[in-house]
Amino acid sequence: MFVFDSILVRFGELNTKGKNKKDFILQLYRNIKFALDEFKGLDYVKSHDRIYIKLNDEDPTLVSNVLKEVSGIASFSFVYKVDEDLDAIKKATLELVSADESVKTFKVKTKRANKNFPIHSDDMNRHIAGNILANTSLKVDVHNPDATIAVEIRSEGTFVYTKKIKGAGGYPLGVGGKSLLLMSGGIDSPVAGYLMMKRGVKIEAIHFASPPYTSEQAVTKVKDLLNVLAKRRCEIKLHIVPFTKLQEKIYECCDESYAITIMRRMMYRIAEGVAKGRNCSALVSGESVGQVASQTLESMATINEVIKMPMIRPVAVLDKLEIIDIAQRIGTYEISIRPYIDCCTIFTPVSPVTKPRAHVAREYETKFDYETLVKECIENIETIVLDGSNTDESIDEFF
Ligand code: ATP
Ligand code: MG
Repeated sequence: MFVFDSILVRFGELNTKGKNKKDFILQLYRNIKFALDEFKGLDYVKSHDRIYIKLNDEDPTLVSNVLKEVSGIASFSFVYKVDEDLDAIKKATLELVSADESVKTFKVKTKRANKNFPIHSDDMNRHIAGNILANTSLKVDVHNPDATIAVEIRSEGTFVYTKKIKGAGGYPLGVGGKSLLLMSGGIDSPVAGYLMMKRGVKIEAIHFASPPYTSEQAVTKVKDLLNVLAKRRCEIKLHIVPFTKLQEKIYECCDESYAITIMRRMMYRIAEGVAKGRNCSALVSGESVGQVASQTLESMATINEVIKMPMIRPVAVLDKLEIIDIAQRIGTYEISIRPYIDCCTIFTPVSPVTKPRAHVAREYETKFDYETLVKECIENIETIVLDGSNTDESIDEFF
């Protein structure tokens, strides 16, 4: 049987990044090693535009399942390394194409990156195809072949393969700075965090807890969700804000219809304060346009005016079903639908305004000393670190 010995990893958008490219590749190399840490038998080689992973005795399917989730990878292929020699290449490609009985037609595509190799690509294609035609009943089909046999002749080795597996895309986690995710324990905010990380941006998380209205299980849920995001990627810090006093004050001093608006303005203020102190350059939320009263454009504008920092909303334009699709794929959905009450839901008014006005919100805020309460919230934050180790899922279930 034909056995692949390595994985060749390709980077996508990184190619457009000019002088940053070297840092990106180094970060991706580190992230791949971190993600695959449990596979102790693997060896890694980094070149200027590829990463090679030598499988040794590790299970290719399990390794592939993890690799598919590493952001910054455009695609990867299981490859077979051969000697840089025409006869060796002919032998390997013949074996490779014969190994799959469903293949009836093929084409050959040689890439001669190492220009020191004496035979030109077109001639290589002819040599290899001629050898296959002479030794099998297969036919050439250049337009719609069952298999494309790729031969890459590079300075770091010569590789043959037939399939490309799609990677996660995006950028390597860590190349895009750091942001602070407002994490509620619902379906949307973990997806927002995931999409941000996929874009290369690290996250810390902030959660507003209102005990005794919200339970300890609500916080556990947030921790479990962050552990899923952290797993095989990085550590994530969670800042838990004691929000009860401020929230009670809001409901005491403001009309019910504006309570959510004011509450969210307070959340934004606290989050911005924490973000500044933690070296985060943006906030992130799971808000989606029109989803609820506090997420109309007018509402977003009224809430947003209290901060200067950008608020990124990665799921802003996705339908709920599209968000759920991502949540299911990344393994957060089942945790998110556990029924625990969030601080947003405890005092939900019967009829919140859908178009809250900023000057009305400001007027309510003159009725109490929110600045001291905001400061108190920030001072009494409890911070914990999640490293992904508390998740029970096996690799197969998770990916
Ligand atoms: P999610 O599914 O993420 O809970 P949602 O549809 O329930 O979102 P809201 O409850 O209105 O929407 O919250 C909108 C966003 O505000 C959340 O996605 C999250 O970013 C932030 N948020 C809400 N509640 C909290 C909380 N208790 N702590 C931190 N952030 C919160
Ligand atoms: Mg919510």
